[in-house]
Amino acid sequence: MSVAEKEMISVAPPTVEDKLRRLVPYRPGKPIEEVERELGITGIIKLASNENPLGPSPKAVAKMQQVALKMHLYPDANSYKLRDAVSTMLNVEPECLVFGNGSDDIIHLLGVTFLTPGDEIIQGDPSFVRYEAAAHLNDAKVNLVSLDENWNYDLDAMAAKINDRTRLIFLANPNNPTGTMATQNEIEAFLAKVPERVIVVLDEAYYEYAADSPDYPDSLRYVREGRNVVVMRTFSKAYALAGLRIGFGVMRPEIAEWLDRTREPFNVNLMAQEVAIAALEDTDHTAQTLALNRKGKREFYRAFTEMGLSYTPTFGNFVWFDTGKDCKEVFNALLHEGVITRTGDVFGAPTHLRVTIGTEAENTKFLTALRKFV
Ligand code: PMP
Repeated sequence: MSVAEKEMISVAPPTVEDKLRRLVPYRPGKPIEEVERELGITGIIKLASNENPLGPSPKAVAKMQQVALKMHLYPDANSYKLRDAVSTMLNVEPECLVFGNGSDDIIHLLGVTFLTPGDEIIQGDPSFVRYEAAAHLNDAKVNLVSLDENWNYDLDAMAAKINDRTRLIFLANPNNPTGTMATQNEIEAFLAKVPERVIVVLDEAYYEYAADSPDYPDSLRYVREGRNVVVMRTFSKAYALAGLRIGFGVMRPEIAEWLDRTREPFNVNLMAQEVAIAALEDTDHTAQTLALNRKGKREFYRAFTEMGLSYTPTFGNFVWFDTGKDCKEVFNALLHEGVITRTGDVFGAPTHLRVTIGTEAENTKFLTALRKFV
């Protein structure tokens, strides 16, 4: 390559450069194998990504084996069968659904579709990190609104941030990393303050874990009423298919049509489309998942109380708790005992950790390790 050619590559067009500077690559927890190699220990468990500790449903696995034989084919660009199954389950029109390569993809599509330079988004802080990325990618401004002292949304403060440039408001409900939930009354009071031209995104990645709480919002109702509300769900958590990458948004058909223009035609792979249906149908596996989570949650609460640690009651499959120490030290100590968790410092909470509720054995391993250090 000539010097002139190299120079051309190293000089990025200024607009791209500005935008890229603000984008932070997503840093997932390290894979177990890598940590085992680094520390020279085996049997490490990962309670860092809110995955389903039971693993995928055996019915989903059987379906994967069957579908493997069809992998020479392109997927259905409209996810027809999955659309049918989900619309029946949720009692929404099939045109209200947009499927994605995980719900991350839906967040990305919302940004690409609705944000132009100078537009604004509003979100809680701390909350899920991908909302900011969607804004930065499209040169939109991010308005972060701190959670209150109990880690709940300050919805009045969020409403006060709305201005003429506001296009999207993201509310993870339950919220990640805190596990807290906004109630039906709170969401309704909030929606009443949001002008119709603003889209409110209710990210319900942890819906299944929260759905039996009496105050949990019936958010699909807002979609059925024709509001500018997008409800997001995923197969990555209770349906145990995080590796397959499949999630979806529910919205009025006019909004869905816009997202349909910006998405890649084959953004949902064939395996995901077919296996997601099998996961939906295995209601026993989902029930087991939720029962395990309920039990683990109680065990965590009991243990944290015994250790004198304050925790935030969770509506998800993870617990946000205060170690009372530098979270990085506790994280490292746990890592050396073979348990990967998530530190709160990246969320502006330097003494907090977020831990996923695991199997009984995993929970015991985590709590035994934690007792040594706090
Ligand atoms: N929203 C929230 C609140 C999450 O915690 C996650 C995953 N950690 C996602 C969305 C993205 O999930 P996925 O892309 O796997 O569907």
